[in-house]
Amino acid sequence: MSDSVHAGDEDGSRYGREYFSYVRGLFLATSFISIFELYLNFDWFLSVPLWLQVARIMITVIVVGYWLCMPRFDPMPRHAFRVGILFFLMRSLTLSYALEPYNVAFFYTVALIALMTLASNRYEVWAAMLIGAVSLLIARSGQFPDRAYLGLALVTIFAGYFGLSFLRFRERLFELLSQLKDQTRTDQLTGLKNRRALQDDIENGFQLLESEGTAFSLLLIDVDHFKRVNDIHGHAAGDEILKTLAREIRHDVRDMADADAGAGTVYRFGGEEFVVILPGTSVDGASIVAERLRSRIDAKQFDAIPQETLIPVGGVTISVGIAGAEAGSGWSEVYSAADLALYRAKDLGRNRVERADRPTPFPASPELVFQA
Ligand code: GH3
Ligand code: MG
Ligand code: MG
Repeated sequence: MSDSVHAGDEDGSRYGREYFSYVRGLFLATSFISIFELYLNFDWFLSVPLWLQVARIMITVIVVGYWLCMPRFDPMPRHAFRVGILFFLMRSLTLSYALEPYNVAFFYTVALIALMTLASNRYEVWAAMLIGAVSLLIARSGQFPDRAYLGLALVTIFAGYFGLSFLRFRERLFELLSQLKDQTRTDQLTGLKNRRALQDDIENGFQLLESEGTAFSLLLIDVDHFKRVNDIHGHAAGDEILKTLAREIRHDVRDMADADAGAGTVYRFGGEEFVVILPGTSVDGASIVAERLRSRIDAKQFDAIPQETLIPVGGVTISVGIAGAEAGSGWSEVYSAADLALYRAKDLGRNRVERADRPTPFPASPELVFQA
């Protein structure tokens, strides 16, 4: 399971892809206009030179073909832009022969603005303006009145301004959307990923398991007698302890680069419950990670707990249940197995690690049950 560092970038490009699927709608509309226009002006079409007929047919084929193929293009923005330029240039070329000047102005403006919405960086905006200027020069040879010509020059400049600001707007929007998504997947108190993030990651985890056979292990961690810790030290101290615990677990899970126990991802699952996913790690490896974590937390002194209050309460400890995800299993099975193991750890006295596949005989001894 990947770290969250690059998640924002991935989301940004995903929103980008969604945006360009809307652009695809634009091309669909253009396809219809192109065909309809050909139908309306068919007499004219038959009367023009052969090269113009070929150009018109090509425009229609490119636009319709492009619309059909668009989902398969990757990266889409660049292709969209290039085909857009081609389409725009050829249209300006042919329309200036066929239509009244105000019609040409209309098509020119719509096509240029549409092209600007396709630009994926500012160089493409400049390129589109250049193409617009070249098309204007070509149109002039098609006997354009001066006033309309001046108007179109202004449209070209306006389109460039629109292109640049729209580009900035889109970049900012995608950035905000990814930030928003990150926030909904992050726990505010501890900064860990939250339960919602776990849901997404777990889906990916099971997909990897099915496609590549990469198994993973699950640690279910619950703080022992946390209610009591809260009652005695106060809720604020409880919060501080949770934050420290989150840091400790993350630190441990990242640092433990055993041959078998790789780095994993930590989630705050609920109030004082944490989940660790260890991809590519067997239950044996996960047990090593869990046991080291448990003993370190057991030995740790928490700043939020004054030394003198330790005597009646005891330190902060955790209980851990471990289960492994194997091919054919699902989240509910793995989670239930880890949960059962955790319950057993609690019943057997807390501050201990239990694995689902190799249960400690239960009850281990009558005294342990009483300790709980
Ligand atoms: P056990 O060893 O059986 O797990 O005992 P426990 O007291 O930890 O169990 P229980 O689940 O009954 O209590 C969990 C407590 O965690 C209850 C709640 O007050 C506390 N808690 C949950 N979320 C937070 C939080 O965000 N901050 C603080 N300070 N306490 C929380
Ligand atoms: Mg609990
Ligand atoms: Mg608890």
